[in-house]
Amino acid sequence: MADVPAECNIKVLCRFRPLNQSEIVRGDQFIPKFQGDDTVLVGGKSYAFDRVFPTNTTQEQVYNTCAKQIVKDVLGGYNGTIFAYGQTASGKTHTMEGKLHDPHQMGIIPRIAEDIFNHIFAMDENLEFHIKVSYFEIYMDKIRDLLDVTKTNLSVHEDKNRVPFVKGCTERFVSSPDEVMDVIDEGKAARHVAVTNMNEHSSRSHSIFLINIKQEHVETEQKLCGKLYLVDLAGSEKVSKTGAAGAVLDEAKNINKSLSALGNVISALAEGTKSHVPYRDSKMTRILQDSLGGNCRTTMFICCSPSSYNDAETKSTLMFGQRAK
Ligand code: ADP
Ligand code: MG
Repeated sequence: MADVPAECNIKVLCRFRPLNQSEIVRGDQFIPKFQGDDTVLVGGKSYAFDRVFPTNTTQEQVYNTCAKQIVKDVLGGYNGTIFAYGQTASGKTHTMEGKLHDPHQMGIIPRIAEDIFNHIFAMDENLEFHIKVSYFEIYMDKIRDLLDVTKTNLSVHEDKNRVPFVKGCTERFVSSPDEVMDVIDEGKAARHVAVTNMNEHSSRSHSIFLINIKQEHVETEQKLCGKLYLVDLAGSEKVSKTGAAGAVLDEAKNINKSLSALGNVISALAEGTKSHVPYRDSKMTRILQDSLGGNCRTTMFICCSPSSYNDAETKSTLMFGQRAK
């Protein structure tokens, strides 16, 4: 598989998961028709992206095609963001994390962790690396530290260079892929403990893993910094207006607002009309401000179900992805 062309800094990639067992049992139809490696037909309409991954694409192929280069760029001093967008159970977490300790089924984040250290071990011995990671989630517009559950409502500040950051968020220094994996396991365990239904919770919150890389040349003291945000977004499905009330409806409105704020930022960046990018419309876009668009590497995975049962959500997900093109 060839690399995705590098000329545009916002890449939109679309991935379809296979039909699952209950969809097969129910007799759902498989609706996408794949054309070449960048187009998919759904319901007679064609959607083009930088790349479309059919259901049999492996985790390794996804990583090599779209994330490998970002790791090199972040080590070269660029910032970046990789998102997964889609309805619940469309494959977002599978794409971003996968099965964490399984070499075949692991997703983008563990592969990035391995790749970073492989690169570092092969680089100039005179370079000193400081790598730190943070892990937090945004739920109902509140930022919760997954590495310190006592921090449940952190705020976004700007440093003296006007670079936004989550104030007080735990940062862990890591010096091997295993240490990165330990931090992820720890954060996920904390998330499980704090909520009664993890599936519901993860579909209603955005989870954000941040890798910050600083390097310094021991002789020249020349410094280079890059950071990478890895974002598993809340489920994009519409809550039925008749069924939802109270807290569920509030959650749905909140998710809707933050996902549309993200869509507006990405489409403003994609249009390239630099006049106004509405970063300030949500906490997430404020945090990501210096890691989206411009010189940054931005990749959005549009995750889709192939089932006729989900066809309305799939079309709306594909439309969201098209706005970024
Ligand atoms: P989401 O995070 O979008 O809610 P998940 O990533 O948890 O969805 O995926 C839902 C289920 O489908 C999981 O059991 C996952 O392992 C499976 N799945 C998702 N994408 C794929 C894929 N490309 N190939 C095989 N199984 C997948
Ligand atoms: Mg998930």
